[in-house]
Amino acid sequence: MAKVVLNQVSKRFSDSVAAVSELNLEVADREFLVLVGPSGCGKTTTLRMIAGLEEVSDGQITIGERNVTHVSPKDRDIAMVFQNYALYPHMTVRRNMSFGLRLRYGGNFVSRLWRRWQNAENASKREEQFQQIPAKVDQVAGTLGIGRLLDRYPRELSGGERQRVALGRAIVREPAAFLFDEPLSNLDAKLRVEMRRELKELHRRLGATMIYVTHDQVEAMTLGDRIAVMDKGVLQQVGPPSEVYHKPANRFVASFLGTPGMNLLEGELVEENGRFQFRGSGVQLEIKANQHPGREPNGTRKIVLGVRPEDILCQENASSDWLAAGHGQVELIESLGDVGYVHIRLPGDEANGAVLPRITAKAAVNAANGTVPGPALQDRPAPIAFRAA
Ligand code: ATP
Repeated sequence: MAKVVLNQVSKRFSDSVAAVSELNLEVADREFLVLVGPSGCGKTTTLRMIAGLEEVSDGQITIGERNVTHVSPKDRDIAMVFQNYALYPHMTVRRNMSFGLRLRYGGNFVSRLWRRWQNAENASKREEQFQQIPAKVDQVAGTLGIGRLLDRYPRELSGGERQRVALGRAIVREPAAFLFDEPLSNLDAKLRVEMRRELKELHRRLGATMIYVTHDQVEAMTLGDRIAVMDKGVLQQVGPPSEVYHKPANRFVASFLGTPGMNLLEGELVEENGRFQFRGSGVQLEIKANQHPGREPNGTRKIVLGVRPEDILCQENASSDWLAAGHGQVELIESLGDVGYVHIRLPGDEANGAVLPRITAKAAVNAANGTVPGPALQDRPAPIAFRAA
């Protein structure tokens, strides 16, 4: 197994647009790294460059200690699992899983004979490995619970079974690193949860380096030892999921991660008599001295306040765990069964055509009556509080 390092890697498909720009990324040996970002941000291109399916325009890629920047895909010792599984339709599951190994150790009957004749020592080792292929396929198929499917063709399998075969085909090769390109996106919601758990377990069992591309945040948060967030071909932040979620490096990361994303309120941090207050976007809020982001000589500074939806309460009589922040108009309440989203419009100078800021609060739905606690849709401004850190 091996670490994967990208050093100043760029990819330009044309002169005008860089799909990936000066990417520096180090994936540790045995790490599960998730590459996440919106559509078109360069995730797949990055993965394909690591696999060797795409030439880099600039920079260097190493796998283990080997510079593989210009090495062909088959010699990089990696296995890639694609979104569409990419199984050979005319081959049985057994043949699909053994194909890569048969190519590596075997070839056709004549080439095996020729090798044996040319170099007896090397040939006998390869022949031994060739003979072990069926047992290896059986063992991996058993691990993945697809042993009974080995003689079927891909068209005779469900989506989940095909996904397992694609995984199995990668595992039998025992590569230095696994690359996954949205491997669960064609599965239904229930199967995705199941496969997610299996992938995590597989990673633990194999102890392999895995790089996993997705735009699904739940997959990113649950699978990754670390997640790397990309936007417009540029790496925005890399770190453990909870760090990236709670300490986003910039506004993009803050609003990309989380469902819904972080609320971003523009305003000023004002200092008065040694106390700090955030004022802006219709909100007024005491900020503890140790939370403010730095002091300006004149005591006032323009800032953007980020608040997660779960840290906003829209309810009368909030406990002391919450800080009063003002009032807003509840515009829409959405219930997902277990949690509800309360969309709130904050006050502002609407008469002068200003776009009024909006925030979203997230609350547990009352199981007894299926409602989201707090004020119903109404004209009267509702009290808003932010969680005291
Ligand atoms: P998605 O989540 O939609 O799969 P992504 O983050 O994987 O997106 P990429 O497929 O890496 O994004 O594409 C990054 C950018 O490069 C996009 O703007 C895309 O249009 C462009 N691109 C990708 N492949 C090519 C190509 N072969 N030729 C020209 N442009 C390309």
